[in-house]
Amino acid sequence: MDRRDFLKNLGLGTFTLAAGRLIPNINPLFAQTSPPGHKYWTWVTRQFNPSIDGWKQHLAMLKESGIDAILPEIYDSRHAFFGSKHLPVAEERLEKILPLAKEAGLEVHAWMWSMPCNVEDIVTNHPDWYVVNRNGESAAEKPAYVPYYKFLCASHPEAQEFVRTTAQELAQYDGVAGVHFDYIRFPDVILPIGLQPKYGIVQDREYPQYDYCYCSVCRHDFEQETGIDPLKLDDPSTSDAWKQFRYGRIRHLVNDILIPTVHKEKKLATAAVFPNWENVRQQWSTFHLDAALPMLYHKFYFQGIDWIGEKTKEEVKAMQNHAPIYSGIFGSMLKPEEMQQAVDTVLKAGGSGVSLFASPLMSEEQWRAFSAAVKQESAR
Ligand SMILES: [Zn+2]
Repeated sequence: MDRRDFLKNLGLGTFTLAAGRLIPNINPLFAQTSPPGHKYWTWVTRQFNPSIDGWKQHLAMLKESGIDAILPEIYDSRHAFFGSKHLPVAEERLEKILPLAKEAGLEVHAWMWSMPCNVEDIVTNHPDWYVVNRNGESAAEKPAYVPYYKFLCASHPEAQEFVRTTAQELAQYDGVAGVHFDYIRFPDVILPIGLQPKYGIVQDREYPQYDYCYCSVCRHDFEQETGIDPLKLDDPSTSDAWKQFRYGRIRHLVNDILIPTVHKEKKLATAAVFPNWENVRQQWSTFHLDAALPMLYHKFYFQGIDWIGEKTKEEVKAMQNHAPIYSGIFGSMLKPEEMQQAVDTVLKAGGSGVSLFASPLMSEEQWRAFSAAVKQESAR
């Protein structure tokens, strides 16, 4: 779900909610981009759009607070906030931020939405690029949950090329340290438990209207591999082959198309990923990312701070290429006194640092608490 909805649904205001390691011994360039020790990141939501002076102040505050890398939201599935040649451009914000971030001593990782595509031209002229649910409804016409849940199908070569082109455009900016993939997944077949009551739905199993993708390409390819039409499965949720097929579609896009595109420009590839990855068909422990930023937003799962550490530990262990895990913490939802506990629990669990959601949403008090937590950690 979009983070803004999560926030609204949690009654926390009308903000946007946002939602990978260095490859060892392959390219020493990568190793040089990361400072020694822990690393701290923050997502910067697109609604934050101050004057040049406002940016300078904000970036200086982030650096002062212990942040090493920022993830500005630079493509939101509708508009590019950079000088794209293939997307509708809202403004050239990335071009504005890059020199300011450099001056402030911060890395910039361009945050892009991956699979949702609400670009009017694509929705209208290429509806066949989109995922289709088990009832035969295309997300281009009848998206699940919310109007913007128009996800492209990872099996379509043209859809793959569309996503790849955005990643390439971003990776080609000199000052960009990396490309950050958000929504690199299927629509949620089951929403996080904290969200279901707000939509008035009970998802005690996989229901057909939320279950993707049964487009002609996916059906054809699966049938070629297994001799089975997935639409003819009695209960598709119990078919391991069908699950694996769909995990493989996203993995192929990430590992064989997107990451090589980013690495060709000698940039890092990271992603915002789900703790409950099965529900979004995102088996990210098999992605060849340079770092993973799992969104461990505990309240969406009715959990406490300790859960952030428990999930971090599992994920560090699960990550097949041993890339670093920077646990995503919902900074603007934490009480200042919880900040130290959250940072501690991640680092003790083997996390390489944290990523905060989101810099413009956090109060001065929350930033002070984070800064104190980082200073305490580095003094150890
Ligand atoms: Zn499909």
